[in-house]
Amino acid sequence: MSYFREEHRLFRSAVRRFVEEEIVPCVDDWEERGEIPRSLFRRLGELGFLGVEYPTEYGGGGADFWMTVVLAEEMARCRAGGVAFSVIVHTDMSSPWLARLGTDDQKARYLPAVISGDKVCALAITEPGAGSDMAGIATRAVRDGDDWTLNGSKTFTTNGVYGDLYFVSARTGSEGPRHRQLSQFLVERDTPGLTVSKKLDKTGMLSSDTAELVFEDVRTPGANLLGEENRGFHQLAAGLQRERLLAAALSVSAAAQALDDTAAYLRQRQAFGRPLSELQALRHRFADAAASLEAARQLTYHAASLFAAEEPCEVQVSMAKLYATEAANRVAYECVQMHGGYGYVRETPVERFARDYRLWTIAAGSSEVMREIISRRLLGDAP
Ligand SMILES: Cc1cc2nc3c(=O)[nH]c(=O)nc-3n(C[C@H](O)[C@H](O)[C@H](O)COP(=O)(O)OP(=O)(O)OC[C@H]3O[C@@H](n4cnc5c(N)ncnc54)[C@H](O)[C@@H]3O)c2cc1C
Repeated sequence: MSYFREEHRLFRSAVRRFVEEEIVPCVDDWEERGEIPRSLFRRLGELGFLGVEYPTEYGGGGADFWMTVVLAEEMARCRAGGVAFSVIVHTDMSSPWLARLGTDDQKARYLPAVISGDKVCALAITEPGAGSDMAGIATRAVRDGDDWTLNGSKTFTTNGVYGDLYFVSARTGSEGPRHRQLSQFLVERDTPGLTVSKKLDKTGMLSSDTAELVFEDVRTPGANLLGEENRGFHQLAAGLQRERLLAAALSVSAAAQALDDTAAYLRQRQAFGRPLSELQALRHRFADAAASLEAARQLTYHAASLFAAEEPCEVQVSMAKLYATEAANRVAYECVQMHGGYGYVRETPVERFARDYRLWTIAAGSSEVMREIISRRLLGDAP
C-alpha cells in the first residue's frame, strides 16, 4: 500500500535531484560555517519548495500534507540534519501559524515573502525557564496604544540568528490558568530592542543556527497579534502535531539513509578475509535496525494519514514521534558500531547522523512529554 500518488512521486524526484545536485556538494562547508546561505532559501522558493501546501493566491502550491512529508523525507537525505531542520522550521514549524491563523492583511504582508524565501521564519517559544513547560513562558507583551511592547528572552531559536520573521509567544494575561494567558506575535528582525545575545554552540545540527534572543521594549504593531489574545497556548498545541510528525518523518528518512550508507560500508570493508556484510553478528544487528526502522516508518505514515484526513490523531502522532525518534537513535548507535573506528570520525556520514538526530528525542516535545501525552490519554490523569 502506498500513501503517495503520482504527483507526490514526481515531486519526490524533483526534490531528490535538487538535494543531490545543489545541497549535498555544499553541506560540509555549511556545517563548518554554522549556517546555510540565504541564497538556499531563495532557490528553494524559486523551485516552489517553500509553500507546497499554502494557497496559490500567495504563491503556494495548494498541495496536501503528503507533499510536505515528501519534502521532509528528501531534505533529510542530504546527510546534514541541520539543513533539513532549518528548512522545515521555516516551512512547517513556524509559518503554518501564519497561514492558519493570520488575518488577510497579515497573510498579504508576509506569506508571499515566506514562500519565495525572501523572509526566513523562526519559532520563538522556548525560554531559559520554560521548555517542555510551555505555559511557564515569562516573556511579557503589554498593550501600548495600538502596539504591543515585548520584554523577555528566548533560547534555542532555530533560524534565530539569520532569520527575518519571528513567531514569538508571550504572556498577555495575568489572571486564570497559566495556559490561558499566552498570545502569539509576529515580530520582524529589525524591530528596535530585539537582539541576538548569543549563537549557541551545539553538538550537532551545525548548519542550522540556534539563537538566544533578548526583547527589550520591542514594539510590534497591534496588527501583528497572531490569532486570538490569550489563546496562544491552544493555538500552539493545535499546531504541534504537524511538527511532531515531521520530526518523525525526518528521523526515519535520515536513519534509512544511514542504514544504506552502512550497507555499502559492510559490503566493501574486509575483515578476516571476507566482507563485513558476511559476518552473522553484523547481519543480525543490521536486520534488527532495519526492522525497527520499518515499524517507525509505518507508524509515522499511519499517524500522518490521520492528520492529513483531519481526524483526531494526538495519541498516534505522539506514538510516532516517540517511536521514530528513539528508533533513529538506536539505528544511529548501530550504524556507528558497524563502522568501527570509522564511525567515530568526522568525515563519515553516520557520525554526523548520530550527532544530529540526537536532537529529535528532545525537541518538538521530548520523549518523556510524548509518554506523558500517551499515558494520560490511555490511563487518565495521574493524581
Ligand atoms: C538544537 C535545538 C533547536 C531548537 N529549536 C527550537 C526552536 O526553533 N524554537 C523553540 O521554541 N524551541 C526550540 N528548541 C527547544 C526545544 O523544543 C526544548 O529544548 C524542548 O522543548 C525541551 O525543553 P528544555 O530544553 O527546556 O528541557 P526541560 O523541559 O527542562 O526538560 C529537561 C528534561 O526533563 C524532562 N521533562 C520535562 N517535563 C517533564 C514531564 N512533565 N514529565 C517527564 N519528564 C519531563 C524532559 O523530557 C527532559 O528530559 C530547540 C532545542 C534545541 C536543542
